[in-house]
Amino acid sequence: MPPSSTTTEKALVLFSGGQDSTVCLAWALERFGSVETVGFDYGQRHAVELACRPDVAAALRAGFPDWAARLGEDHMADLSVLASLGDTALTREAEIAMGADGLPNTFVPGRNLVFLTIAAAIAYRRDARHIVAGMCETDYSGYPDCRDDTIKAMQLALNLGMDRRFVLHTPLMWIDKAETWKMAEDLGGTALVELVRDRTHTCYLGVRDVRHDWGYGCGSCPACELRAKGFAGYRAR
Ligand code: ZN
Repeated sequence: MPPSSTTTEKALVLFSGGQDSTVCLAWALERFGSVETVGFDYGQRHAVELACRPDVAAALRAGFPDWAARLGEDHMADLSVLASLGDTALTREAEIAMGADGLPNTFVPGRNLVFLTIAAAIAYRRDARHIVAGMCETDYSGYPDCRDDTIKAMQLALNLGMDRRFVLHTPLMWIDKAETWKMAEDLGGTALVELVRDRTHTCYLGVRDVRHDWGYGCGSCPACELRAKGFAGYRAR
C-alpha cells in the first residue's frame, strides 16, 4: 500500500479521461478527504477522451468504495476559445509533425496556463486548497507549460492573484510512463491498472476500436507510442 495521508482537505483534479489524469485522480482520492474534478473542452478534434471521463469516474466509484465516498462534483469548462486562436494538430485535422521551433504541432500555446487558472478559479469557489494535475517533465514532448518551473511559477501567480494558499500537486512530474503504470498498481492494485488500460484514452487520433495489451489506440501516434512503451517497461519490471 502507498503511504497514505488522507486529510479532511479538499482537492480539485484536472481530469481529462486520459491515463495520466486518471492516475492523478486515484492519487488524490488516496490522500484527500474530498476530491472534485474538472475537465476542459477546448475543441479537441476528437472528443473520445472527454467521452471517457464519466465512464472512468463510474468505474472508480464501482471498484473502489473508499474512493467513491470521497469523489464529489465534476465540473466542465468550455475553453473553445483555445481552438479559435490558431492552428494546432490537437484541434484540427492536421498531420502530427515537428515544428521549426522544436515543438510538435500538437502544442497548444498557453493551454496548461489557462487550465490551471480556470482550475484555481473553480477551486477558489469550491474552497479546495489542493489542485492536482498530470504535467510531467520526464517525457513531455518539450511542452514548456509542462515544466516544473512553469507549475511553480503558476502556483505563485495564482496565490498572489487570488490571495489564496493553493498547493499545486504534480505527482507525475519526475516519473516516466512505466512508473505511472506502477503508480496505478501501487494505488489500486491490478484492478486500477486494468481500469486505466481499458477505460482511459490517450491516442491523438481518437482511435478507440483497436485494442492492444496497453489499451485502445492507433498504436502509431506519439501518444500511443509513449503509452505502449511505458506499458512494456512496466510489464518488464
Ligand atoms: Zn494513437
